[in-house]
Amino acid sequence: MPKKQNYGGVKKSDLKAKANGANNKKGGDNNFQRRPQAPLPKLPLVYVDQMTVADIASVTKRGVADIIKALMEMGMLASQNQSIDRDTAELLANELGIEFKVDETKDYTNFENLKFEDNPEDLVPRSPVITIMGHVDHGKTTLLDTIRNTRVVDSEFGGITQGIGAYTVNKDGQSITFIDTPGHAAFTEMRARGAQVTDIVVLVVAADDGVMPQTREAIDHAKAANCPMVVAVNKIDRPNANPDRVKQELAECGVLADDWGGDTPFVYISALRGTNVEELLQTILTVAELQEYKANPKREANGFVIESKLDKTKGPTATLLVKNGTLKMGDIIVCGDTWAKIRAMYNDLNKQVREAGPSMPVSVVGFVDVPVAGDQFLVVKDERQARQISETRTNRTKNKNQSSKVISLEDMFKNQDSDTKELKVIIKADTSGSQEAVKGSIEKIDVDGIKVSVVRSSVGPVTENDVLLAQASEAIIIAFNVQALANTKDFAKSRGIEIRSYNIIYKLIEDIEAAMKGMLAPVYEDKTCGEAEVRETFKVSKVGTIAGCMVTNGFVRRVSNVMVTREGKTVYTGRIASLKRFKDDAKEVKAGYDCGIMVENFNDIKVGDILVFTITEEVTNEE
Ligand code: GDP
Repeated sequence: MPKKQNYGGVKKSDLKAKANGANNKKGGDNNFQRRPQAPLPKLPLVYVDQMTVADIASVTKRGVADIIKALMEMGMLASQNQSIDRDTAELLANELGIEFKVDETKDYTNFENLKFEDNPEDLVPRSPVITIMGHVDHGKTTLLDTIRNTRVVDSEFGGITQGIGAYTVNKDGQSITFIDTPGHAAFTEMRARGAQVTDIVVLVVAADDGVMPQTREAIDHAKAANCPMVVAVNKIDRPNANPDRVKQELAECGVLADDWGGDTPFVYISALRGTNVEELLQTILTVAELQEYKANPKREANGFVIESKLDKTKGPTATLLVKNGTLKMGDIIVCGDTWAKIRAMYNDLNKQVREAGPSMPVSVVGFVDVPVAGDQFLVVKDERQARQISETRTNRTKNKNQSSKVISLEDMFKNQDSDTKELKVIIKADTSGSQEAVKGSIEKIDVDGIKVSVVRSSVGPVTENDVLLAQASEAIIIAFNVQALANTKDFAKSRGIEIRSYNIIYKLIEDIEAAMKGMLAPVYEDKTCGEAEVRETFKVSKVGTIAGCMVTNGFVRRVSNVMVTREGKTVYTGRIASLKRFKDDAKEVKAGYDCGIMVENFNDIKVGDILVFTITEEVTNEE
C-alpha cells in the first residue's frame, strides 16, 4: 500500500476496530453482531525500546487506528511503523486510560542493566583481566614492563607496543590481559562507575619493605570488589629481602598464603630481573581456570571503556575492553552517553584488526564524542537506535538530580530492597586505639534487620581514595578525631559521599543507631507536584461540579491531594474525587494537557481558580 493511503486506511480500520473492539484479524463483523457493546480491553502498555505504533497496538490489543487516533489527539501525526519514545508512550497510555509499564529487561536506555542469556553451548573460556596493585615503589610499573616485554620478544612485530591502556600476553597458548594503569585509583574509579573490569588482582609487595599503607588499601579494594588475589612478593633479589616477614604481615591483614593453609597463592619474584615472572603468569592462569571465566564470542559485543582521548587526527578514540561477544568493524555501539560507528580498531601492537573477542582490548575510532573511562558499551541495531539512546541518556545526565546517587547516613537504606539491609562504613581515626574502639562499637550496634559492615578501618586523614572506595562500595565515611583535607571534602561532595566527623564516641554511636532505627519508621511529607488552572466548569446533576482544567506545571495524579486557591488565598483543601482525560479515568496528567477534575466534597469551584496538587512522599530521616 502506498504511504499516502495510510490515512485513508486509518479511517477504515478505525471503523473496523470500533466494531471489533479489538485488533481482531478475522470475523470482525460477526463479532460486531454478537457483542456490539464489547468494551475496549484494558491491557497495560508495556513499553520496550524502539516500540512502533503497530507494536503498541499489538501489546494493548487495540487497533492500529485507535493508537494513531489517540496520538493525533495528543497533537502527533504518526504512521504505524513509526517508533514512539518512552515519554510519548507514557502520555499515550494516559490518553488511552491504560496503565503504563516499562519492560526493564528490554530498556536499552539503561543498557547496563540488560541481562543477556547466552546459550551454555556457546560459552567458551575467556582470558582473565588483571590489575596490578600495591604500595608505591614496590615494583608495579617494573612488573608491567617486564611482562609486556616478554610479549614483545614473543611477537613478530618487534619492539613497538602501543600504550592503549591494556595489553595481552600469551602464556603457553593462553592469553592474559593486563590493565596498564597500576594502583587502585583507576581500579576503584572504574568500580565507582559500576564497571567491574578486573577479574584478578595481583598484589605486589616489596620483600625488603613489607606491608605498607597502600598495600592495606589495595587489599580492602580487592576484597570489596570480590576479586581473587595473587600476591607477588617482589624484589627477592635484594640482599635485605625478607619474604617470610611479608607473609606474616599479610596474614595479619587477613591474606593467608596457600602454603600456610590459606587460599591466596604467593609467588616470589624479581620484576627487575624477570625471576619467576613466568611462574606468576602460570599462577594467574591457574586461578583463572578455577574461576571458570567464560564468554560467548558469537554474540554482539559489550564491555567497558578503559581509557579515552581526543586524538588530533583520528578524533575521539577510546580503548574498549570486550567483556562478552565479538566487536566487529562497522558495528554501531552505544557507549556511556555517546555512540560510535566503528571505523577502525587497533590492538595493543598498533596493528589494525577487524574483530575483537572477549577480554581483548582495542583502540577504537569512530566515536561521536569522547566517552569516559569506566563507561560501558553495547552493540545496537543501527545508527538511529544509537542516536536515540544517546540522546535520551544525555538528557538524563543533564537532569543531574535524577541520576546522581547520594550516599549519606540518612538515605543509606532507601535504595536497598532486600530484607536484611546493610550499613556500610569506612572508618578513619586518629590513633589505632580509637580506630579499634569506633570499629568495635559500630559493629556492636544491634538493630533488627540491619547488618553493619566495616569496609575499611584505618588510621589517618580521609583521602580521595577513601572517597572512591566509599563510592564503589556505597559506604559512608566516619572520621573520628581526624579531618578530611579541603580538596578531599570537595571531591567527596562532587561524588555525593557523606563524611561524618565526630570527636565523641557516644555521639557517633547515637547518630548511627538513630539513623538505623529511623529508617525502620519512615517519615512522610506532602510535596507539591503540580498546578492546574480552572478554565471551565460543568455542573452535572447528582454528581457535582467538574472543573475543566489545564495542568500548567508538574503533574496531577488521581491520588494527589488538592488545594483550591482563589486570588492567592486557599479556599479549600481536600482530595481529588475523580481525574479524567476526555471521558476516561486517568492516573496522571502532565503539564500541557487538559483534564477534568472533581474535588471531593467541594462544588464551589470557579473559573480562574488555581489548583495546587501535593503527593505524600517518604522523606529522609531526621537525625
Ligand atoms: P611502582 O611505584 O610500584 O610502580 O614501582 P616501580 O616499578 O616504579 O619500581 C620502583 C623502584 O624499584 C624502581 O627503581 C625499580 O627499578 C625498583 N624495582 C622494581 N622491581 C624490582 C626488583 O625486583 N628488584 C630490584 N632490586 N628493584 C626493583
